[in-house]
Order: sequence, then structure tokens, then C-alpha cells
Amino acid sequence: MTETTKKRISAGAVDIVDRTSATMCLDKPVSTVKGVSDRRAKALAKMGIRTVRDMLQNYPRRYVDLSKVETVRTAVIGEQCTIMGRIHEMKLKRPKQNLVLVEITLVDETGTLLVTAFRQPWLMDTLAKDMMIAVAGKVEFDYGFKRMTNPFIESLDADHEGGVGMIVPVHPACNEISTAWMRRLTKDALADTRGLEDFLPLDLRCKYRLMARGNAFESLHFPESMGEVAEARRRMVYEEVFLLELALMQDGARRQEGVQPTAHVTDGEAMLALLGAIPFALTQDQLKAVDEILAVLAKPSCANHMLLGDVGTGKTVIAAFAMAAAADTGNQAVMMAPTEVLARQYAQSLGSLMDAAGVSWGILTGTTPAAERQALLEGLKQGSVQVLFGTHAVLEDDVVFRNCSLCIIDEQQRFGVQQRAALLAKGVGPDALYLTATPIPRSLALALFGNLTLSYLKERPNKGAERTTQVLSRGRAQEAYDAARAALDRGEQVYVVCPLVGLDTEERDKKAKKSSEDAEDKYDFAGISIEADGDYAGENIKAAETHAKVLQETIFHGYNVALLHGKLNNAAKQQTMEEFRKGDVQVLVATTVIEVGVDVPNATVMIIEDADRFGLSQLHQLRGRVGRGSKSAQVFLVSNSQTPVAVERLAAMERTDDGFELASYDLSLRREGDILGNRQHGASSLKLVNVIRDAAIIDAAHSDARYILDRDPDLAGEEHRALAREVRQLRGATAVLGG
Ligand code: ADP
Ligand code: MG
Repeated sequence: MTETTKKRISAGAVDIVDRTSATMCLDKPVSTVKGVSDRRAKALAKMGIRTVRDMLQNYPRRYVDLSKVETVRTAVIGEQCTIMGRIHEMKLKRPKQNLVLVEITLVDETGTLLVTAFRQPWLMDTLAKDMMIAVAGKVEFDYGFKRMTNPFIESLDADHEGGVGMIVPVHPACNEISTAWMRRLTKDALADTRGLEDFLPLDLRCKYRLMARGNAFESLHFPESMGEVAEARRRMVYEEVFLLELALMQDGARRQEGVQPTAHVTDGEAMLALLGAIPFALTQDQLKAVDEILAVLAKPSCANHMLLGDVGTGKTVIAAFAMAAAADTGNQAVMMAPTEVLARQYAQSLGSLMDAAGVSWGILTGTTPAAERQALLEGLKQGSVQVLFGTHAVLEDDVVFRNCSLCIIDEQQRFGVQQRAALLAKGVGPDALYLTATPIPRSLALALFGNLTLSYLKERPNKGAERTTQVLSRGRAQEAYDAARAALDRGEQVYVVCPLVGLDTEERDKKAKKSSEDAEDKYDFAGISIEADGDYAGENIKAAETHAKVLQETIFHGYNVALLHGKLNNAAKQQTMEEFRKGDVQVLVATTVIEVGVDVPNATVMIIEDADRFGLSQLHQLRGRVGRGSKSAQVFLVSNSQTPVAVERLAAMERTDDGFELASYDLSLRREGDILGNRQHGASSLKLVNVIRDAAIIDAAHSDARYILDRDPDLAGEEHRALAREVRQLRGATAVLGG
């Protein structure tokens, strides 16, 4: 052996050791990164950043391209550009009682730029005289000066000074840690993991020409060009989906192990009786869905079926068929809803169908009296109660079934993975049926939930009834209230929805800041309701209360107006809903608690105040509350917002009544780095995936994962060692996935 070969071998060995330790470093606490003090570690933990890996996956929210930077002199009036300069002076002003603004005089070597930032008083704390900043926005000309109003403002590190030709990443940051600091910490974290190994099999990397993992991290955080960002992102999107697929597929396979799945009887007596009891003709879509669901229930395997349908397409009744199958098989079924209001609603609609089918049922919620609860638990254990409806309350340990073989989750997007797993644990190898109004395309549903079978409901049962949506400026809100009054006079009912109206300006500022710097990204595609939280709830409710009172005394005089909001106790909510359902209350003024599933067919008008404050999918969920019966419905979106994004989004609501279309539109608005409500889906490993744009990658990763597992189900092969570790890591991080 020559000296050089020896050297090379030992260098190689060191290399492997280094690679391994760099890789291991990913899972070390973030406090091991230089610059992360205890205080910063705490702040990072609040952002969900606990490990070095979390830090590296805290991808920039956007990039400021300083390679396209202009000077004050060369900046063209009327155009977008980035200008770097030094803060010469900054002042906080209050031109009106409810208006604060920060005025910054920015200088570079060619001139002076005036920057006005409305409603961001915190800039006084985060910026200071003589600081170098970059501002990006449209240049205006005003009183002899070039000016930018509400530009994107970023403070630059010392090393960016004069660094033309650079791209500055803007990482998600928090009050305690600025984006500049975040950049610094990320750089240190990258240094610790330099040389980490790539777990992706080489053939896959070659097949798609994917960047190596370490390089992709570097390029996403500190790119030299935007092209590099795109390539790095492509690699990471593939990785995210591929790993998730592997984990889900493995879990799906394991769920079948060692259990005796039920082959349900699907043509028994209860089924027959149920068919006779359905008060309307099922739509073609519903019939098809029932067929598909009964087919998977009949198979001796653990079904994992998702029923997807826009609000109002009639998903609930389909659950009845699945329950009848469980009863005919001699087993039990459980159906869980996210709210008490909904659970009670089942008890009404599905309960009467169960009665007709000769199936015994009960309902269990957090407010079920102790004695009743005890009797119910006994019945479940004995098997005398065949179907249980309920809220999260059904997950409690002492809720034990004799033999539950069917678990149904309504509005499943509202539940976390753990809760789904907890429900499935109530049965022995049970079949699972998920109902959701989240309009996810097939490929994504597969990617997110592993081995699923799917049914879609596209048509609405009440085709005769039309629903129109109209956006009105505040000045024209009266038209909406007139229409509402007219509906009341026809004997119909009305919803008025109030978001955070009535907050004073400062409170709004705080709120705006708190809810991250880019408010336009706050679409909650998955339809999660943002009920007023913490400090703001009080304000929210006060505003809604006032509004309800005013309405009662003025335009809705002579009708009963009631208020529904998240802070009411369940009994009060229940009672209000009941009165509204019975028609004793004709106008319901509400915060977003009515969002999910509530079904009052006689309600035909909905007015949504400050509609721009809601996410698109949330608006869509909300309007799904009207137009459910045979009567036509009107939805009014009242908004004074002039921002192009808000105007665009509300216009989309006017343009289409189709949730799927709206969701595609919503997603197409998102930039890289935004996620499809992944927290809601429990798939917190998907950080970069954009389901519309990345559909092809999702498909590829799905079939690649299938291919690998078909050959090596446990990823036990030596060539899959790194891959297996990564999947284990993912599974640990997200607890239970899918199935
Ligand atoms: P979602 O899909 O939003 O859960 P629901 O199951 O609550 O919708 O159904 C909406 C309304 O339509 C309910 O009042 C329900 O009784 C009614 N409905 C469901 N299917 C039909 C049908 N085939 N014909 C007429 N009405 C129907
Ligand atoms: Mg529903």
C-alpha cells in the first residue's frame, strides 16, 4: 500500500466519521448551536424550534434580492425596487387619534428617501438611527422627495453593508429574536452540520437530478441566486413527501398486523330499514359514495376511507349507512365531532335514522351528566348501545366498547393525529371513515394520509336553491341589512358574523404584529376556525355584543337577535343554537363558532363583517351555513379593505361557489415556504410542499416509496440504513402518523 493510498483511506475514514457526526448533530438540542443562549433557546422553543434540525427547517419566508438593488437616484418612480441605505432619522407620529406612523429618513450616497410605515409602531424598537436597512416597495414622488409607503423593511447585518449582489433570506422570527439574529443562528447551525450525509438513495437522486441534502440546506438559507433556491426547494419537497409516504405506508401496513379486521355485513336488516327511512332521494354522488364505503367495510382489512365533499354536499347521512353495517355485523360504531353543537346535531338527524333502523345509540359530550354518562359507559361495555356519537369526550380512558369495529371522524381536519389514533384505539382493528370538507386533491390526500381509499361528493343535493355572494364596501353595508330584513319578513333566518371588529388601533397593531409579519399569508386553507384567542377574545365579544344590541334595536327590531361566541359555556351555546334551529331566534350574531357543520336550512342570508379578516376557506365554510335548504341564499361580504390581495381574494369568493376551485386559487396565491395547513393535518414534516405546484413531485415520491417498500418493507437493507433512520426520526417527531 502506498503512502498516498493509506492517506486517502484514512482521510476517507475520517470523512465518514465526520459525516456521521454532522448528521447526528441534526438531532442535538438547538442550544448546542453557537449563539443560542438559554434565553434564545426558550424563545426558539416557543416557535417550535428545539433541535438543530428544526432550526435548519425554519426556512426563509422570503428573500430580498439585493442584486436588483437601486440607489435613490436610479430608482424609477412608480416601480417596485429595493433600496439600501442608512437611517438618518426616524420619528413616531400621530397625525390622527387612531393613526400611528413611523417616518424614516433613509440616505444612501446618492440621495434621500422618505419611508412611511403606517401602524407599525414597533419599528421604533427594532430600528435605530444609523442602522443599515433595505426597503423594498414602490417608489412614489411626493413634495420633492422620493418616498416609499409601507415598504418591506429589513435590517441588514454588518456583513451585508454594501454587499450588492446578495440575496438576503428573511427567516421567520419572533419578538425576542430578530430576523438578523435568526440569520446568524442559522449560519452557525449550518456550520455544525456541514458535510452531513444524504439518506436519499443515489439512484433516486440521479433520476431526478436532485441536489445533495447539505447543499440544499445551504442554498435554501443562503442562496446566491433565486435559481438556486428553486433547485434546493425541489430537492427538499421531494424529500419531505418521500419520507412521509414511507412512514405512512409502513404504519398502514403495521396497523393490519396481528389484528383480526372485520368483514362487515352490508346487506343486513338495519341497512334495509335505514334505506326505507331516508327522507330524501340520495344524489348520484351520495349513492356512489355509499357503495364505495360499504365495499371497503365488507373487506376483511382495516379500511382507511375518506369522504371528501364541499360543505352542504350531504356527507352526514352517509355515515348512517356505515353505522348500520357495523350494527348488522353485531358490532359497535363511534362517531366523533369537533364541537358539542355538531355532536348534538347528529343525535338529532342521525339518531332518528338509527331509531328507524332499529339501532340503539347514545351521545357523550363534556356536559353529559355523571349518572347518564355512567349508564352510557355501561351500555357500551355490554354492547347494548350500538352507536356512540360524541365529542373528544369519547376519547377518555373509561370509554370502553364491547366490540367497536368502525370509527368515524367528522370534520377530520379539525383533529390532530393523536386524537385520530386515540379514537382508532377504541376498537380492535377497526375500519376508519373520515369525513372532511377540506377540498384536497386526490394525490395530496394520498400523500398526507398514506393508504387511503377515497370518495368524493361534488354535487349538492339542493340544486334548485341558488347561493349568491356579493362583496360590499362599508358604505353599502345597508344593502346587506336590507336584504336580511326582507328575508326575515319572508319568515327566513339570518346569520351575522363578526370577526375582530371594534379593536382599537393599537390593539390591532399588536395583533397584526403578533400574527406574523405577513398577514396576507394567513389563509387557513384547512378550514380551521380561528376563534378569538387570549387577550383579544374579550374585545371580540364586546364588539359582537354591541353589534347584536344595535341590530336588535334598529334594523331587526321586532325579531329576536341572539349572540353566539366561543366564550359562552356549552349549555348556553346549545340553548342558543336550539332556539335558532327552532326559529324562536331569527337572527344569530356570531363569531366563528358557527363555522363547522351547523345545519339550519331556513337560514338564507349571511352577512360577514370585515370579511377580509377571514381566510378564504374559512369564508367558504361560513357561507356553507346558508343555502342548505330548498330556498335560495344570499351571502354578503362587507369589507373596506383596499389592499389588492384582499380585493382579489374577496373577488374570488364572488366568482366561484366551488370549494375545490377556491382552494386551488388559494394555493396558487401562496409562495414557496408556505404550507398547506400542515399543522392541522398532523403532517408537520411538510414544510415546503405546495400541493398545486408540486403535484408531480408528490406523485413521483409516492410511487418511489411504494417501489422501495415492496422490495424492502422494513427498510432493513444496508443501503437503506440512513433512510430508515430518517423515517424513524420523522415518526418520532410527529408521534403517530395517519392510519
Ligand atoms: P355536509 O356535507 O356539509 O356535512 P350535511 O350532511 O350537513 O352536509 O347536509 C346538508 C343538508 O342537506 C342537510 O340538511 C341534509 O339533511 C340535506 N341533505 C343531504 N343529502 C340530501 C339529499 N340527497 N337530498 C336532499 N337533502 C339532502
Ligand atoms: Mg358535515
